[in-house]
Amino acid sequence: MAQTMLDVADLGHTYQAKDGAHDAIDGLSFTVEAGELVCVVGPSGCGKSTLLRSISGLIRPTRGAVSLHGTPVDGVPADLAVVFQDYSRSLFPWLTVQRNVEFPLRELSRAERTARAGEALAAVGLENAGRKYPWQLSGGMQQRVAIARALAYRPALLLMDEPFASVDAQTRFELEDLLLRVRREQDTTVLLVTHDIDESVYLGDRVLVLSKSPARVVAALDVGLGEERDQITTRSSDEFVELRAKVAGLLQSAPTAETVH
Ligand code: ADP
Ligand code: MG
Repeated sequence: MAQTMLDVADLGHTYQAKDGAHDAIDGLSFTVEAGELVCVVGPSGCGKSTLLRSISGLIRPTRGAVSLHGTPVDGVPADLAVVFQDYSRSLFPWLTVQRNVEFPLRELSRAERTARAGEALAAVGLENAGRKYPWQLSGGMQQRVAIARALAYRPALLLMDEPFASVDAQTRFELEDLLLRVRREQDTTVLLVTHDIDESVYLGDRVLVLSKSPARVVAALDVGLGEERDQITTRSSDEFVELRAKVAGLLQSAPTAETVH
């Protein structure tokens, strides 16, 4: 039986802002099995980043519990990596690409750091960019570096917060396929949030549909598209078209938490 990697139980978070309390997420529950790629799709502002911040221990959620392979998350877990949307702020401009990827590996020997970073850069097609600086690279390449850095760390769980939202459409397709390939090769468990319905269906083994803010899970859909996916044939297949319509319908009719209560 598959092992549960992530367990999110009745999670809620209320921000205390100047103009009063704001419920960003409420009553969110789901699990991610080891080796799964789960996409979370929801409208902008519904609480997706709040969810990922809670899972990664960057904020302490007001309610509920998160556990990572059975251990309650309290603070930033060591075996987790996050890729954010904004690659320009996630890489250190004063470090070379190689050093950026090695950065989270400080506890390893120099030889192992070099080997792991080299391997991860090769996996994202940047084997020759190690000596460059991030600002010498295109946006898509910088996001590849951020992905390589996360992969080199070999996290138990890879969290991605709209990782392809800031690149052009062609690069986005390439990075999506890159993610599908490396997660297969490295058997990585991934939780990816996006506001893009098509992306959630194209990438996911499962898609969790969130309601408007405060977010909760309104549906969990299995994606029966198989392992081999292709930007052209998969996206025009009946199964894909059906699923995207279903997700779109759920997002449109998703009740807010107020009406559920
Ligand atoms: P998403 O990532 O889905 O766009 P967020 O998790 O960033 O949504 O935000 C969810 C809601 O919480 C939004 O209404 C946002 O304005 C609010 N919010 C996010 N961060 C804070 C904060 N630090 N303080 C107060 N409100 C916040
Ligand atoms: Mg966000």
